[in-house]
Amino acid sequence: MSEQKTTKIRRIISAIRDNDRFMVATHVHPDGDALGSLLGMKFILERLGKKADIFAQDKIPPEFDFLPQTRAIRSKPIQSAKYDAAILVDCGDFERVGDELAGFISGLPFIINIDHHVPNRPFGNISWVEQSACSTCEMLFDLCMSLSLAPDANLSSVLYTGLITDTGSFRFSNTNRRVLEVAAILVEMGADPVYLATQIYDSATPEKLKLLAQVLGTLQFHTGARIVTAELSRSMLANSSSSYMDSEGFINHLRSVKSADLAILFREVNDGLIHVSMRSREGIDVAKLAQRYGGGGHKQAAACRISGTLHAVRSMFVGEAVSYMN
Ligand code: 5GP
Ligand code: MN
Repeated sequence: MSEQKTTKIRRIISAIRDNDRFMVATHVHPDGDALGSLLGMKFILERLGKKADIFAQDKIPPEFDFLPQTRAIRSKPIQSAKYDAAILVDCGDFERVGDELAGFISGLPFIINIDHHVPNRPFGNISWVEQSACSTCEMLFDLCMSLSLAPDANLSSVLYTGLITDTGSFRFSNTNRRVLEVAAILVEMGADPVYLATQIYDSATPEKLKLLAQVLGTLQFHTGARIVTAELSRSMLANSSSSYMDSEGFINHLRSVKSADLAILFREVNDGLIHVSMRSREGIDVAKLAQRYGGGGHKQAAACRISGTLHAVRSMFVGEAVSYMN
């Protein structure tokens, strides 16, 4: 372990030991790693005899409902609560936690940031950012090891969830020997890989599949099929009686094309705001491209939001992506 990493972990451990009441929060539109690290941090704090309230501004995607204690997740701050410190997990930027939670957290005396995204603007009294970690859950595993805390079945399950979702089931470029070793230890400690994968990946509703069919109907290939794009409109959601959340993993279908170096999915969040998701092969840094529009993420997985109609944003951004690739 690098000296810098050891120092960060040591500082976080003493901040935890010195305080009692924690507020833990994760990013808007939480994914498997956001929820795994949110619940994982709560379980770690409770094992240390601390109090922890957990927050995620947006709804939990249904495929993660089965995780232990998701009922404890609140969407709004408790205005009367007094916390000694906030811990933000999996938030590339402070604002990623959402307006209302950010407003409340900025009034707290101490903020700890634990994350693995490409940082835009560092934040927090302690900021532990590990870009080489596959997931924030992997970082929490390291924290457990430094605390000599053996994960129980619940903690192992939520951390394993972050590992499989952020590595695309051990397929993306952030998968390495270390990740597989951590996964093996978590399985030994009680995470059930078949149960977890079935809950997360094989729990789609018929509506979700119908929505995917519509999105794939908008596929376009650019620059000799090196760039693959598709879109999701609000009317598709109405046609298939599905929800926006159902589209979380759709971009993975675009990246599965052999020739695709860059996959882009344009989703209409609401009238006039488009969420642009990007996935790339090694060598194409999409975090940089997303940062041009105030977004961010990882080199191989990033997103931003752009105002405009679906059509206008898609044609403008494809043009930008084509020149970015050249
Ligand atoms: P997605 O395409 O799944 O929405 O996002 C891809 C990755 O980029 C995720 O890791 C997500 O957390 C991150 N991301 C999405 N939007 C933003 C943003 O506005 N800022 C930063 N820093 N990261 C983002
Ligand atoms: Mn993550």
